Amino acid sequence: SNSTSSSLATDNTTNDARFKGHDMLAPFTAGWQTTDVNPLVIDKSEGSYVYDINGKKYLDSLAGLWCTALGGNEPRLVEAATAQLNKLPFYHSFWNRTTKPSLDLAKDLLETFTARKMAKAFFVNSGSEANDTQVKLVWYYNNALGRPNKKKFIARAKSYHGSTLIAASLSGLPALHQKFDLPAPFVLHTDCPHYWRFHLPGETEEEFSTRLAKNLEELILKEGPDTIAAFIAEPVMGAGGVIPPPATYFEKIQAVVKKYDILFIADEVICAFGRLGTMYGCDKYGIKPDLVSLAKALSSAYLPIGAVLVSPEVSEVIHSQSNKLGSFSHGFTYSGHPVSCAVAIEALKIYKERNIVEKVANISPRFQDGVKAFADSPIIGEIRGTGLILGTEFTDNKSPNDPFPPEWGVGAYFGAQCEKHGMLVRVAGDNIMMSPPFIISPEEVDELISIYGKALKGTEERVKELKSQ
Ligand code: PMP
Repeated sequence: SNSTSSSLATDNTTNDARFKGHDMLAPFTAGWQTTDVNPLVIDKSEGSYVYDINGKKYLDSLAGLWCTALGGNEPRLVEAATAQLNKLPFYHSFWNRTTKPSLDLAKDLLETFTARKMAKAFFVNSGSEANDTQVKLVWYYNNALGRPNKKKFIARAKSYHGSTLIAASLSGLPALHQKFDLPAPFVLHTDCPHYWRFHLPGETEEEFSTRLAKNLEELILKEGPDTIAAFIAEPVMGAGGVIPPPATYFEKIQAVVKKYDILFIADEVICAFGRLGTMYGCDKYGIKPDLVSLAKALSSAYLPIGAVLVSPEVSEVIHSQSNKLGSFSHGFTYSGHPVSCAVAIEALKIYKERNIVEKVANISPRFQDGVKAFADSPIIGEIRGTGLILGTEFTDNKSPNDPFPPEWGVGAYFGAQCEKHGMLVRVAGDNIMMSPPFIISPEEVDELISIYGKALKGTEERVKELKSQ
């Protein structure tokens, strides 16, 4: 199957032979890919587009990795970084020493979160670090409360929470576990809330949500509620295939979590700042979390930065118990890096000034309806999404139970077709994911749909061919 996907990836792109067999141990890349396949080398960006090193232009339908919310070349972000670099390129935030940009960002950021009141922001450099920080925070919290056994985490199958040891453990994707002796033993996984794939015959979305909440409660009771510290969820699952929650899901899950004094962590790394047409995923689904993880669009990805938002109740315990437990001995050299903070402050300002949430809400029907118009294709099982995030799953016979043979590389073929026609999408097996920049224009949405349609037609023909062989 390696040689199949390899030939698919090479037969129709302008990828650069000069960099074949390069010197990077590349993330989420198989070794054979770097030796057998020319890498796609991106060199430049402009609005919703990126250019490869040979000058070929691509509509960046994934906004980098779901992150360049303001697209390429936003001059205000560049100016904010430059001004801060000239003034103070670095100082840390340890031992109650800190910088003005990190103080200002904490204040600005807390104001943006209105699903409930949040009291504190802890800065990190990535979504993975945010989620690792969550685990230590929750453990510190339960130690402070004298509950040393309340330490287990419940996450969901198909979730993605990052790549560090603990964030990968929380994730519910087998590929992140199998080769790395994960998950860590304190992590449990409950059902993936994917209605199309997992509902029982005749079961409504609401009934499906009720069943999943019941399963969660059974898991908690089986393990012992005194041992379960926190539940973590993405409002819309991203890397697991773009899976919006079924009706009433978060309402029912939150009731269970609350009943057993379990903290709710919202992993908003993809959903925050407008992606779903609301400022946060929590706003869209009525989630009132205790803790929130942020990264990606916080700085529109111009510099690495993430954050953990902490509720007043949790922060009060951490605060008041610090005499007993000592300092919160956790942090990174670059926690609250002043240049990253300066860029994030400016990004938040731009989101507000340009009504970016409203803009996403307004353009999303064009994007959602335009792509979903292809849902009748005989090779598409389901197209799902909301706001500016969308997943396509290729299956045979419109059924979740009839996957195409993996060696056919249907998803990879579609991805290569998009690339040929000038668009980058995310491919994970036979799942295709898109999450364009918030600034995408109506004309660019139409172009995205047109390229999607061409790639789909090519892929349908390819499947017909493979079936007749
Ligand atoms: N959480 C979610 C929901 C994510 O999508 C990601 C990254 N795709 C992460 C966490 C990890 O973020 P990072 O890659 O910045 O560590």
